Amino acid sequence: MPEVLKQPAPKQAATDDSALRDRVRAIIEDVRTRGDAAVREYSERFDGWSPESFRLSPEEVERIVATVPGQVLDDIRFVQEQVRGFARHQRESLHDIEVETLPGVRLGHRHVPIGAVGAYVPGGRYPLTASAHMTIVTAKVAGVPRVVACTPPIRGEVPAATVAAMHLAGADEIHLLGGVQAVAAMATGTASVSSVDLLAGPGNAYVAEAKRQLFGEVGIDLFAGPTEILVIADEHADPFVVAVDLLSQAEHGPDSPAVLITTSRELAVEVLGHVEALLPGMPTADFAGPAWRDHGEVVVVGSIDEAFALADTYAAEHVEVLTERPRLALERMRDYGALFLGEGTCVSYGDKVIGTNHVLPTKGAARYTGGLWVGKYLKTVTYQEVTDPASSARLGEVCGRAARVELFEGHARSGDVRAAKFGDATPEW
Ligand code: NAD
Repeated sequence: MPEVLKQPAPKQAATDDSALRDRVRAIIEDVRTRGDAAVREYSERFDGWSPESFRLSPEEVERIVATVPGQVLDDIRFVQEQVRGFARHQRESLHDIEVETLPGVRLGHRHVPIGAVGAYVPGGRYPLTASAHMTIVTAKVAGVPRVVACTPPIRGEVPAATVAAMHLAGADEIHLLGGVQAVAAMATGTASVSSVDLLAGPGNAYVAEAKRQLFGEVGIDLFAGPTEILVIADEHADPFVVAVDLLSQAEHGPDSPAVLITTSRELAVEVLGHVEALLPGMPTADFAGPAWRDHGEVVVVGSIDEAFALADTYAAEHVEVLTERPRLALERMRDYGALFLGEGTCVSYGDKVIGTNHVLPTKGAARYTGGLWVGKYLKTVTYQEVTDPASSARLGEVCGRAARVELFEGHARSGDVRAAKFGDATPEW
């Protein structure tokens, strides 16, 4: 039986979720009906932001980029190269195919880039510059011709480094606009924000819910809400590193879970001590403290296999494996957004620098999807061709019979005419 040394606060009432859903629905419908006027009102209300135009002109972008220190720009270029490099390898792994399945019957599929993508770059609490690399660079590697990018002002200020990252990543339109109003504007289109085919990027609970509600009308990359970290550690792990890494994700916001599953009770107790000692000195304790208090968990299990099995049930966004043989997780685990194997790396590398995409599934969505990658910006579309008359006649005969089983006379007749034209069948109608 696992021993729970720290458990999260009881789950919030479902009514909280339903109030959030209703609020998001009302904003989306208002933006749909009143367009830019509604966008402006919500931007004023939630972000205190109402410039003459939310869209930055090329001259404004140039002026903003010029204010960003050279080292920051160099680092942005470095990280974008890492993201671009890995995304290119992933793109190259996707092959178009065409196969002959019967004589003269050719079936194929192609990967076609989506026409227009809306990249949401969060910025409510922190200017999430790195999300610009993840959403926009990856879309451009996929070959998306038009990327509309939105990010909110940060406490009334222009997030200059984020604007620079959006520009260097290749965004075609940049808007200083956040939250549900930004996502709804990109999905529905307004006079000043052009509409897109797919929404991508992470965000807070409002943004994630807005994407969920708009799915169907537009595509979405995945459900990428408040960040989560789960650490699997054995007695070989460094408890101080474990504590630092748990808090590194808790600081995202008060709704960010941080979970430790360990085979070592001694390590668990030390980690708890380090977390309590580190928290008060963190400049971001206002977010990390409540996150740890309400969503922090520490569980001791009997074996490493039990740890992997329990970790899978969380389907966590990020899983750090700080054990003697971290690569075992590749064989034993199924449900996670991204794995971080060994002490040499960490979730922060994934978030900020290493090159794998940081837009990852949350709230259990890792059970059915991986994170954002170049493939999410591509449609796998099929085609078919039959150039052998005998094959078309054979397919036509089967099609006629199969369609009539389903009572589809019209479908059956399309088969019948080919069976007659390319073979020796005679339609009975
Ligand atoms: P954000 O840009 O997602 O949200 C800010 C916007 O929220 C504001 O512009 C405002 O318009 C809107 N808002 C604020 N209060 C509101 C209210 N009461 N009603 C309606 N709208 C409101 O920025 P954030 O808040 O800092 O959140 C970023 C989130 O992204 C964090 O939760 C972080 O964990 C998450 N994240 C997730 C991933 C992932 O891949 N899953 C990656 C990075 C970040």
